[in-house]
Amino acid sequence: MSFRLFDAPLREPSQFVGFAGNIIDRQSENRADDSVDKALADPTTRLLLMNGGRLYLKLGGNGGLDPWFGAAESEPFKVSFAHGVLLGFSDLGPVLAIPAGVEAEHLSETVKAIDYRSVYMQGLIDEAAAGAMAQGAALLAWHASHRFCSKCGTESQMRAGGYKRHCPNCGTEHFPRTDPVAIMLTATRDKCLLGRGRHFGPGMYSALAGFIEPGETIEAAVRRETLEEAGIRLGRVVYHASQPWPFPYSLMIGCFGEPLNDDIQADLNELEDCRWFARDEVRLMLTREHPGDLVTPPKGAIAHHLIRAWVDSE
Ligand SMILES: [Zn+2]
Repeated sequence: MSFRLFDAPLREPSQFVGFAGNIIDRQSENRADDSVDKALADPTTRLLLMNGGRLYLKLGGNGGLDPWFGAAESEPFKVSFAHGVLLGFSDLGPVLAIPAGVEAEHLSETVKAIDYRSVYMQGLIDEAAAGAMAQGAALLAWHASHRFCSKCGTESQMRAGGYKRHCPNCGTEHFPRTDPVAIMLTATRDKCLLGRGRHFGPGMYSALAGFIEPGETIEAAVRRETLEEAGIRLGRVVYHASQPWPFPYSLMIGCFGEPLNDDIQADLNELEDCRWFARDEVRLMLTREHPGDLVTPPKGAIAHHLIRAWVDSE
């Protein structure tokens, strides 16, 4: 009998999803309360500037977009260094995410503020920078919505380079959270289950998804969501890949599920439509050649990778 525990592809599927290119060395064991100040004093430090869900991008001479700012260069943008976080270290030096205060319409011709989703969907920056953006966006969003101690209501203070908030009144420490979301492709050899959310773009169908609840395993959440949204009971559930999803701070956990029944009962409060798709039809949706203009989610999305992995499997 062979040992199959690590019998997996050399490049794990999670390496191919959007935001997976983060190569920052976080050095989490070295984080201290003066980490941000020390990093800002380093002339090699590079900053991502963020404001209200948007990333600032400098227009380069060759038409490219550069997300990296030096500390002095960033000052005209009403940055708040006191609310910045240290993401970690690249080969070039420290990397920080800093909230900025100049609104998009007041920026100069040479700097644009573009929402994270467009930056990612349109591939405006390289994969390493997109990964850093996801890390910074999630952290800054968490700080912005967790200013006060959830135990006693006192305003808390940022610590450990932005990886902790400390309450000066009751002493409670609060840590940045990541909210797990299960996303699952229910499939047999011949067909898979795709649904259409009410907010989706024209013609798009995707894998079903939902938040994992307290006290639930990943597999239990996958089974519950599939039953609630589509009326399909699942047998086996297997994990495939995960994706950081900074809207605002989720982790998408992608799985495959094996259906035990065929008769879909879609929850029409959640979904506009939900049905079975044959492999050939899904292949045309992936390549944007579907005769009815139906499409799957774009390449960076983990749903795309779940669907692609199924289409390519035999
Ligand atoms: Zn407190």
